[in-house]
Amino acid sequence: MAETGAGQESRGQALAARLRRNRWLLAAGVVAILVAYSFAGASILVLLPALALLVAAAMLPADAERQSADTAADIEAGGLQRLSGEYLAAAVADPLIIFDHSAAMVHANAAAFAAFGGLAPGMSLALKFRAPEMQALLDGILSGQLAADVVDYTEKLPVERTYRVSASTVGHATGLYVLVFKDQSETRRIDRMRADFIANASHELRTPLASIAGFIETLRGPARNDPAARDQFLQIMQNQTGRMARLIDDLLSLSRLEMKPYLRPGTAVDLRQTIDSVIDSLGPLASESGIVIERDFIDGPVSVPGDRDELFQVFENLLENACKYGQSGGRVTVSMARVDDGQDPGIDVTIRDNGPGIAEEHIPRITERFYRVDVENSRTQKGTGLGLSIVKHILTRHNARLSIKSEVGKGAAFTVHLPAR
Ligand code: ADP
Repeated sequence: MAETGAGQESRGQALAARLRRNRWLLAAGVVAILVAYSFAGASILVLLPALALLVAAAMLPADAERQSADTAADIEAGGLQRLSGEYLAAAVADPLIIFDHSAAMVHANAAAFAAFGGLAPGMSLALKFRAPEMQALLDGILSGQLAADVVDYTEKLPVERTYRVSASTVGHATGLYVLVFKDQSETRRIDRMRADFIANASHELRTPLASIAGFIETLRGPARNDPAARDQFLQIMQNQTGRMARLIDDLLSLSRLEMKPYLRPGTAVDLRQTIDSVIDSLGPLASESGIVIERDFIDGPVSVPGDRDELFQVFENLLENACKYGQSGGRVTVSMARVDDGQDPGIDVTIRDNGPGIAEEHIPRITERFYRVDVENSRTQKGTGLGLSIVKHILTRHNARLSIKSEVGKGAAFTVHLPAR
């Protein structure tokens, strides 16, 4: 059998390692031979073969090395033959079913029993998996036309799951075949989410772009000589470019968060100082919206492990939302409390507004990307629909939680629980 490049390389490496290991022995041998040559007057014809013998001896494998190679060969020869198909099937994490020439089940591993109800030895797989693609897969492999084949198969009940199923023959002339089901549901879900996200982001960018393009046309045409209309349209165009810029900033924020490595442990954030500066930075927006921000903080220094800039972004988003959407309530409270319930000790920061609140059915969805309760309202409030998903992302990185409590007409309370450790 031809030896592969990798095989030659590893053999070469092993010889080099032995020579390295025996280098002192080799050196001593060479010195002895040279001494014999110089002082004892030995002939060069005797010395050269002696030198060659010495190098060959240094390259021979050591006892332990020989022993481990022998053991590996023993395991391969005896052990693998003894290893039962049942053990091998059990070691495979994906559902696996072995069947015979009549498509009757011979054996299934635990993952297959868990994934597909009602499996039993002897049952017909052609009846169990009636989807046309599975029938074609079984027919193809049993007719002997193919040694291996792959199809995508979707189970509808009890929950929809998509598998990539590969079928192949087992060994040579054993009369057995195997199906392995690789669950693709999660990959599909992520692909769908990514496609939806791109469609949403493109739509969000296209709307202001179309508006700007429309106004440029009007300014070059009918409004060419109308200074009042020109000023008004330029203002709208500026607002639209601002909207596009906010959206791009939020998209970049999200993608940066997704690419960031895990938080380095050990960095402590002064929470009181961080929240104070968020409140200060939103002062102008609050007074513009007629909102009074009240603080209800615990005494003493409060520090949590985390990233200061990211936590600033979290509280800025939540407080900005409270000022924008809770404007009618006039008052927003930011409270900070220590939670020592033993299970998950930490700090709870709650931002509570007295605005219109959020209906129950929207609460589980408002942290999704681009999800808004009222799209028009969000747009007038310069929203992008990405704020809360950025919040959620950052909190996940901090091992923290966001809980939302609200009742229509009674305001909303967003609580961030930051673990102490
Ligand atoms: P946006 O950029 O639209 O504000 P967010 O992700 O920050 O996006 O919020 C998603 C939606 O959640 C908002 O559009 C709004 O409908 C709703 N929302 C968020 N905070 C509040 C709040 N304090 N009161 C009422 N509704 C809110």
